[in-house]
Amino acid sequence: MTVKITKNIVGYRVTKADEQAKQEAPAQDNSPTPVKMNETIERPDFLLGTTYKIKPPVAEHAMYITINDILLNEDTDHESRQPYEVFINSKSMEHFQWVIALTRVISAVFRKGGDLTFLVEELRSVYDPNGGYFKKGGVFMPSLVAEIGAVIEKHLKAIGLLESEEMSETTKRILAEKRAEFESSQKAATNDDSSASEYPANATMCGKCSTKAVIVMDGCATCLSCGDSKCG
Ligand SMILES: [Zn+2]
Repeated sequence: MTVKITKNIVGYRVTKADEQAKQEAPAQDNSPTPVKMNETIERPDFLLGTTYKIKPPVAEHAMYITINDILLNEDTDHESRQPYEVFINSKSMEHFQWVIALTRVISAVFRKGGDLTFLVEELRSVYDPNGGYFKKGGVFMPSLVAEIGAVIEKHLKAIGLLESEEMSETTKRILAEKRAEFESSQKAATNDDSSASEYPANATMCGKCSTKAVIVMDGCATCLSCGDSKCG
């Protein structure tokens, strides 16, 4: 900030940090208080949405999960994208009844506002008594409900409501090196490259990220998906 001094300087003192904050504060007080997600917000005529396709082996056809978001406090510093409703469509009708019920309940929770992360945890920890299944890429899904939870988690991460635990570049590089080393040591033994999985065919399940991506090398078990490692 530049101030033109027109009078003679007869004395001076250093402005304290809190005084400066007080001077700057009134400008912010004029702006309206940001709107938080709540049930009274009316649904706008159009909402932006994202559709995720899943192909659980427990359903005959693919399922399409659409999550529509509402933009709150548009064009202000408090602009935020919040999930507003969820729809699930599929040609399969075998799960229709409870899927509709689930989407209605989830949509209602979305519209109540507040912390939504519990939804992901609750859904992801539903276990199918028939045993669950592996998705393409070797990720274990304990149930169809859990996979719907995983989609919601993915969406909340995409719109910034959940922190995504991105791996550092160094970790990624080390994992890639480990993987290359492991694969070259295995090549001689197994020469059938038909494995459709993202990870080595003989990789085992990771207790942390539920992906069949754990390899054992030099006495250490390392997960090539999340980097979790145990030695000895
Ligand atoms: Zn893992």
